[in-house]
This record gives sequence, structure tokens and C-alpha cells, in this order.
Amino acid sequence: MIVKIRSGSQQQRRAAKKAINWCADKLLSKRIQPYIFIEVIIRDMTRDNCLGFCSWTEDNLRPRDFLIEIDNRQGSKRFLQTIFHEMTHLKQYAKNELKEYLRDHKVMWKGQEITSYNYRKCPWEIEAYKTEKELYKQMQVEGVCKEYSWGEKYHWIKDKKVHKDLICQITQQKK
Ligand SMILES: [Zn+2]
Repeated sequence: MIVKIRSGSQQQRRAAKKAINWCADKLLSKRIQPYIFIEVIIRDMTRDNCLGFCSWTEDNLRPRDFLIEIDNRQGSKRFLQTIFHEMTHLKQYAKNELKEYLRDHKVMWKGQEITSYNYRKCPWEIEAYKTEKELYKQMQVEGVCKEYSWGEKYHWIKDKKVHKDLICQITQQKK
């Protein structure tokens, strides 16, 4: 697995790299890992009104190249949880559990077409929210990333209207 991280503070880059490599073993099989390429961009996502983003690049048939974007204003706890959230989506794409057909405006989840687009009720979001909390807890138990700690930059993040992410382009368009 290759992880390339751009921008953000040095502390954020190091924490992101460590967290991604750590959770990859929990989320992805050893067989698939060597083929995965992840580009991570840590940036101000005010305009996107979300905390993170995960998308596949190139093809959606067997996605192996991914782009993950993480908002740089999150405190360390939320930052790491967002990473686990997006990595869960990466796993869903890589294992073909979640498939987006942009041309047909279609989303498939574990082989079934999804027609209801309530963000928090989407099965892939339910799984991602659950997994981000579980992995964060487990990481703390194991003492991974404990050397990285910083606070949130702005209060806006407490605003509930901010999305965790905009994972699915199609669900966003249909809103
Ligand atoms: Zn999500």
C-alpha cells in the first residue's frame, strides 16, 4: 500500500500516515493491500462544508487508486475519526460493496440498488460512523497515535449542519 500525504501540518501528516497504515490492517485483506494507492490531501474544507471526502480515481470496476481529503481544522480526535470514516468508505469501494455509476446515476450497495438517499440512513454511512468510533477506541487502547494531540481550530465545527463527508456524488445531486 502506498500512502502519499500532502499539505496540513507536520503533526497532521504524521498522524494521518500512522492512522491509515494502522487501520488498513483492520479493514483490508493482506491480499488487496499491496495494490492500494492513497493520496491524502489535508486542507481547509470550509467551502465544501464537510470534514472529509473519499473517492476512487480512474475506474470504478475494481478501484485501487483513491483520493482522501481531510479538513485541517479538526482537533486530533475528530481528525482521526474522520480518517477512519473515510478509510471505511475506501474499504467499501475496494471490496466492491459500494459502487457508484455516475453515468446512470446509480448506487449499488452489496449488489442491491439503493434508491433512498437519506445521508445518515445510507448503509455505507451507518457502517462508517460505527467503524470510526470503534477504531478510534481500539487505537487508544493500543496506544497508537497517542503522541499526536491538538485542538480544534474553529468553533464552526460544532455546527451540526456540517457534513462528515460527501462520499457519494449521486446522493448529493439527488438532495
Ligand atoms: Zn461518510
